[in-house]
Amino acid sequence: MILGSNFDTFYSDRYLTTLHLKKLHDVLSGVPYEHIIILANTDNYGGGGIYNSYLMSAAHNDKNLPVVVHEFGHSFAGLADEYYYDDGYESMYPSDTEPWEPNITTLVDFKSKWADLIKDGVDIPTNPSGKNVYEGLGVYEGGGYQSKGVYRPVQECRMKVNEAPVFCPVCERAIKRMIDYSTIRK
Ligand SMILES: [Zn+2]
Repeated sequence: MILGSNFDTFYSDRYLTTLHLKKLHDVLSGVPYEHIIILANTDNYGGGGIYNSYLMSAAHNDKNLPVVVHEFGHSFAGLADEYYYDDGYESMYPSDTEPWEPNITTLVDFKSKWADLIKDGVDIPTNPSGKNVYEGLGVYEGGGYQSKGVYRPVQECRMKVNEAPVFCPVCERAIKRMIDYSTIRK
């Protein structure tokens, strides 16, 4: 409550954030940190992660740990959500523009994404097979809240479902790149 955090960000009942960034940085003043992880004092399911800013998760929910990892994907590596809805958020990503996030594509500039990781013979787009759902790399339609026009790298990634045990290879590479960017002296 000290940060005035709330659910219902953008009308989503599980999107948990604080808009009080000045207060957040006041609380942290004098504390050395690399990344901000806020655990909200609630058992309601939810969380939120803002790239280069902070992540927040419910402290007392059973899914707290996987939610923190998912939100870390947003806040640390700028990953997009790979899940989608059958309706709503229809025009979140314009179809004539390649999204800036590394783990989704509109196929406008797929070369800038994970084209180099796709094995020969894999169809683009790729039909979901139900097999090798966590690491079978392809270009699966549905992602970034849209069921059409946005594509994701695997059938089930940590950026899509809490049950996925790992990030997909594309998200993993994006996280590694960010770690290298933050730690390797050139
Ligand atoms: Zn992923």
